[in-house]
Amino acid sequence: MHTLITVLYIIAFALFIYGLMGLTGPRTAVRGNKIAAVGMAIAVIATLLQPGISNWWLIAGAVVIGVLLGIPSARQVKMTAMPQMVALFNGLGGGAVALIAWVEFRDSAGYLDRPLYFVIASLFAAVVGSISFWGSLVAFGKLQEILPGKPVSAGKLQQPLNILVILLTLACAVIVAIGASRTEWLIVGVLVFAAVLGLLVVFPIGGADMPVVISLLNAFTGLSAAAMGLALENTAMIVAGMIVGASGSILTDQMAKAMNRSIPAIVAGGFGGGAAVASASSTDAGEKTVRSTSASDAAIQLAYAGQVIVVPGYGMAVAQAQHAVKDMAKLLEDKGVSVNYAIHPVAGRMPGHMNVLLAEADVPYDQLKEMDDINGEFSRTDVTLVIGANDVTNPAARTDPGSPIHGMPILNVDESRSVIVLKRSMSAGFAGIENELYHNPKTAMLFGDAKSSVNEVIEELKAL
Ligand code: NDP
Repeated sequence: MHTLITVLYIIAFALFIYGLMGLTGPRTAVRGNKIAAVGMAIAVIATLLQPGISNWWLIAGAVVIGVLLGIPSARQVKMTAMPQMVALFNGLGGGAVALIAWVEFRDSAGYLDRPLYFVIASLFAAVVGSISFWGSLVAFGKLQEILPGKPVSAGKLQQPLNILVILLTLACAVIVAIGASRTEWLIVGVLVFAAVLGLLVVFPIGGADMPVVISLLNAFTGLSAAAMGLALENTAMIVAGMIVGASGSILTDQMAKAMNRSIPAIVAGGFGGGAAVASASSTDAGEKTVRSTSASDAAIQLAYAGQVIVVPGYGMAVAQAQHAVKDMAKLLEDKGVSVNYAIHPVAGRMPGHMNVLLAEADVPYDQLKEMDDINGEFSRTDVTLVIGANDVTNPAARTDPGSPIHGMPILNVDESRSVIVLKRSMSAGFAGIENELYHNPKTAMLFGDAKSSVNEVIEELKAL
């Protein structure tokens, strides 16, 4: 049986890695996901074959509940709600690991007779898993707009509060580790204080830093699973945990670089000391004017342009306007206009969000330009068409040191000769701050749902 389990695990790991390779491109991603899911099913079967597994009815009950909740929610989730779904699923992984650490504590009467490495790995998994679960719940709430997307902090009290909670978490963990007391309240204390820490760290982070935090929590879940796997000597947990931990860490690093942020500075922001808690300035909209335009004027401007850049953002995802945008671009190209798409690394609500949407609409890859490659082009562009993007175009990131997004690289939309912004109102984006771009004399606002507006522009273009 031992050999069979090992063989099944090896097959599962190979499928994880092969599946992950598929996730590197939109065309192979669905297949990659399915392959990795088959790998996970095999790993679950191999784990259930382990000797000593009992409580079959409990396991079956949990599987049924998981299937009943997981499959419909994953099937019904809208594309725009995918990021919060991912945050939630990720958090559940961390929560499961934290609960395993608790179960192990109970099972061994407070880690009695367990080797030190087991106790340390298990406590690490409890702390990091609990932080990840509760932090991910806050991230979910912010993305779902149940909680404010803006930083929420306890002001000057934030830092002392965080330090107090860290000390309390460590104190409980150390008492458990040295075996000074084996009361169950101590492991509950570890889990609860780590939970409070997760809440305290993620609440004060908002706007531009959220993508980095989400991938950091992702890495945390992986690391907690790997640590628990070390304690339990479960190879599947170690390998899967390390894959998630390593890829999450790489993603965190890449997102932080793209946002011109340092990871310690973001976490420090959550600790009441960094840029992330800076308050929004430049919000006195008082005297500023906004120029609105119509679909027919926008169509004329676009049709007579030599070069157009489309800047997609979260609003395009909400409106599901990607197919209409592609049709509009085709009409413009037929009229001899050059059209490119400027992709900001954190546009939308998940890494690669815009690439996925535009790939779904079969927009040619060579038209999708990364921020660094296209920023120099804006000054040579006749019309930039901003479709439901807001924060990623906000010049305050360059000009206003008091802005929460200051220092974040943006698409230099304001440098183009004219700008048309498609959105429904003057509402702020995820970071909750006003966008000076909308008051720029070069900018015209085409108010309405992005898909309807693009369709109206298409009709006008056809009529020209
Ligand atoms: P924003 O969230 O800044 O702005 C989106 C805009 O879309 C809103 O201002 C909204 O304005 C508009 N909008 C919404 N629905 C529609 C619709 N149906 N039709 C037209 N417009 C619509 O989006 P960006 O993509 O510019 O920036 C992404 C933000 O999300 C950044 O702050 C980023 O840090 C954050 N974030 C990104 C993550 C990632 O991994 N990519 C993860 C977590 C957060 P209105 O309501 O007036 O229509």
